[in-house]
Amino acid sequence: MLQPSLRIGDAVGTPPSRKGPATHREMVWVEGEYFRGWGCSECAWEFRPSGFPEGDTIDEMKDAYERQRDSEFESHVCAKYPIRR
Ligand SMILES: [Zn+2]
Repeated sequence: MLQPSLRIGDAVGTPPSRKGPATHREMVWVEGEYFRGWGCSECAWEFRPSGFPEGDTIDEMKDAYERQRDSEFESHVCAKYPIRR
């Protein structure tokens, strides 16, 4: 039984809309002389956690860390930072 209406291409739609101009920035792992952690591929933004992540377990702390990291990455503006070299 063929199902001609089901094609892989149908799953590829438009990506969810995001606020702000479209950039191809992504979070990258940065290892430098003075910094090791997550940074932006398009600018010199680096994630520096403020204090110790909250949580009672390693998993909760990891979640809190990742939430903070993701939201700071989403909200930073590449234009305000130097270009990463
Ligand atoms: Zn950036």
